[in-house]
Amino acid sequence: MTAQGTISPYVLIVEDEAALVTLLAYNLERAGFEVARAADGEEALLMMEERAPDLVLLDWMLPAVSGIEVCRRVRRRTELKNLPIIMLTARTEEADRVRGLEGGADDYVTKPFSMNELIARINAVLRRLRPALSGEVLKRGDLEMDVGAHKVRRAGRPVHLGPTEYRLLRHLLEHPGRVFTREQLLDAAWGPNVFIDPRTVDVYIRRIRRALNAKDTPDLIRTVRSAGYAFDPAPERVAS
Ligand code: CA
Repeated sequence: MTAQGTISPYVLIVEDEAALVTLLAYNLERAGFEVARAADGEEALLMMEERAPDLVLLDWMLPAVSGIEVCRRVRRRTELKNLPIIMLTARTEEADRVRGLEGGADDYVTKPFSMNELIARINAVLRRLRPALSGEVLKRGDLEMDVGAHKVRRAGRPVHLGPTEYRLLRHLLEHPGRVFTREQLLDAAWGPNVFIDPRTVDVYIRRIRRALNAKDTPDLIRTVRSAGYAFDPAPERVAS
């Protein structure tokens, strides 16, 4: 497994557990990433200033400055505002997930995680950052969205969506793997100044799922409990 393209994306690992850092660095390098390490938040911020990474893996529990605080500080700097951040966390409390998303993390991985899962999430976040999708067709796994023609197909089968479902799905497709809160999805599909109960999003997600998912096909939309939704392309089948 290698990262996309011939250039190795540069990933900064911010974590104070040495054993985990070693494991992460080993696996990411094997997967084709260039890796740097920082053991605390202050060091990480200095390193990011020197050279902006393509992505930061940021542990929540760090000495001195917490991961969530590092995340907030990064977002406050104009030159780093859009830096992709995946938070590593042992916390599974709902309030913490929401805090993390509000603090500006692009995605979350809860410990313990598998390296394959982590690398898939990193690649998903990077694909969003590097829109190789300059064409008019967004392709995600077996799903195709012809943006010009407003047509969606899954495994060649036409998918019929209403205009709101289409906008919602398009937003999710443009940011694969990223978790959005209901409020963020409302802004994206309905516009920022519309006052609708965020629960309405659930109704539209149900309709999208019904339209997209045929029998025996994996659900492409991930529900993140108490946080929101994300789009995950159907995983490639791997013999194991
Ligand atoms: Ca830690």
